[in-house]
Amino acid sequence: AKADGKGVARRFDPARFAEAEKRRRAEHELHRALAEKQFEVYYQPIVDLDGEHTVGVEALVRWQHPTLGLLPPAEFLDLAEDLGLLPELGGWILEQACAQAVEWQRDNPDFELNVNLSVSQLANPDLTEEVRDVLARTGMPAHRLVLELTETMALTDLTASARVLTSLKTLGVRIALDDFGTGFSSLSHLGALPVDVVKIDRSFVQAMPAGSGDASVAEAVLQIARTFGLSPVAEGVEDAGQAARLRELNCAHAQGYHFARPMPAAGITELLLARTS
Ligand code: C2E
Ligand code: CA
Ligand code: CA
Ligand code: CA
Repeated sequence: AKADGKGVARRFDPARFAEAEKRRRAEHELHRALAEKQFEVYYQPIVDLDGEHTVGVEALVRWQHPTLGLLPPAEFLDLAEDLGLLPELGGWILEQACAQAVEWQRDNPDFELNVNLSVSQLANPDLTEEVRDVLARTGMPAHRLVLELTETMALTDLTASARVLTSLKTLGVRIALDDFGTGFSSLSHLGALPVDVVKIDRSFVQAMPAGSGDASVAEAVLQIARTFGLSPVAEGVEDAGQAARLRELNCAHAQGYHFARPMPAAGITELLLARTS
């Protein structure tokens, strides 16, 4: 009993016990959720800023928890990643979303689908093969699929990331750098990674058009995108002023609550029907 000095850490701590208990329960519930497919893919429209029609969607996972209701990814994704569930969950999300997008493409052939990749998916040496299989099974055209990854993910091992992305791109899919501008040395990534799209982080978008320092970051990022021949998508557009400023800056695509919130697949189907009828 001398190893820990005052012995504080060894005393029974109800709060820590409860915390560990809570985590064990969450782990158990997540495993079951995956087995029972309690997840649902929501979709948020990505709009063309000229005319504001929907050109595609980003798939965003939700957990339909049996007692807690609909949970956003912030409530379970990190734990799922820690538990090693993300390759399986991510694969399921990709397949659901591709199958759904193929249906939307029947009346909207150009309709695009963005899907987020996790760290562990990116680390999976079989990722390209798995994506190829999903495309084949669902009939999703590769050139309508955009895979999103964050700078931080790509930064961990730039050489390895570049290799994985190059391999993915042989399928014909495109790559988007998510939350662009929030990581450090963003510029060096753009040179080293085979990226097609940059998603401008909402912190910069929401600083517009106030003319603060962060607002000019959005403009700078747009300029960088143009210089590197990348398509920019502005994230987190919440009001008409931001949309107008982005239009002025010739940003083609945007996403945010101002246009639409993430919604179940049926909501997107209605939205597309309203447009074509
Ligand atoms: P993200 O990829 O940056 O996705 C955008 C997030 O911003 C979404 O949160 C979306 O609902 C939210 N958002 C969209 N428009 C606005 C807006 O105007 N204002 C504000 N304040 N927020 C807006 P969500 O769905 O809670 O997802 C959070 C994060 O979880 C995502 O950030 C992404 O990193 C991760 N995630 C979500 N779905 C998946 C998935 O299927 N796979 C993986 N690996 N990660 C996912
Ligand atoms: Ca994303
Ligand atoms: Ca983002
Ligand atoms: Ca994010």
